[in-house]
Amino acid sequence: MKNILLLFGLAVVLLIGLTTYRNSKKEKPLVVIMMGTPGTGKGTHSSELSKALKIPHISTGDLFRENIKNETELGRAAKGFMDEGQLVPDKIVVEMLFNHIHDKGYDLTGYILDGFPRTLIQAQSLDQRLGRDYNKIALNLNIDEEKSISRITGRLICQSCQTPFHKTNLPPKIDGKCDICESDLYQRDDDTKEVIKSRFEVYNNDTKPLIDYYQKSNVLKDIDSNGSKEIVLENLLKNINQKR
Ligand SMILES: [Zn+2]
Repeated sequence: MKNILLLFGLAVVLLIGLTTYRNSKKEKPLVVIMMGTPGTGKGTHSSELSKALKIPHISTGDLFRENIKNETELGRAAKGFMDEGQLVPDKIVVEMLFNHIHDKGYDLTGYILDGFPRTLIQAQSLDQRLGRDYNKIALNLNIDEEKSISRITGRLICQSCQTPFHKTNLPPKIDGKCDICESDLYQRDDDTKEVIKSRFEVYNNDTKPLIDYYQKSNVLKDIDSNGSKEIVLENLLKNINQKR
């Protein structure tokens, strides 16, 4: 009788061990948080990464515009604050994003977040939602300020077809004219050195607490994004794979 009990106990221990081992082997969905200074091309890198990893890229800026355009309840609420020159409260931002993730079924696939979180409260809401069921990584794209300034201040856009050019990196064939439709090219009003410098300042102030937060939870990776699109993508994937 004693032996049978012992054997039974052994079997139970083995079974528990095996199940735990299997569960730990099962890959959790990946959630990538994209952060980075102005001019790092965060949007471009996010969509490249999305193609490579085959998980959706969620730009909260686009999501906002969509909600406002479609006059959803949350979109109207957000617009109310924006019209008064106020920041949209975290609660509205979080709800808009989480509803979207739920509606699209992204909880199962994992996703790339571009433009979220912007505050500590948003970061904490995300952590609460994800719990331990996800593989989370925050990628902080870094670019030299001087390089960022030259990237942004050199931007030229066609006034008819919106095709982007760059004074030095991607100059049009004829000075000041679009290669495609020959319309005049223009520079956006806020693409000036002064505006960019102040955007850097705002970014550094606002993002510092988030960087510290993710550093403490050991999910932050700094990414040098001074190189080409291909090199940056390679860099991003390498860091993600190390974390998985
Ligand atoms: Zn054009």
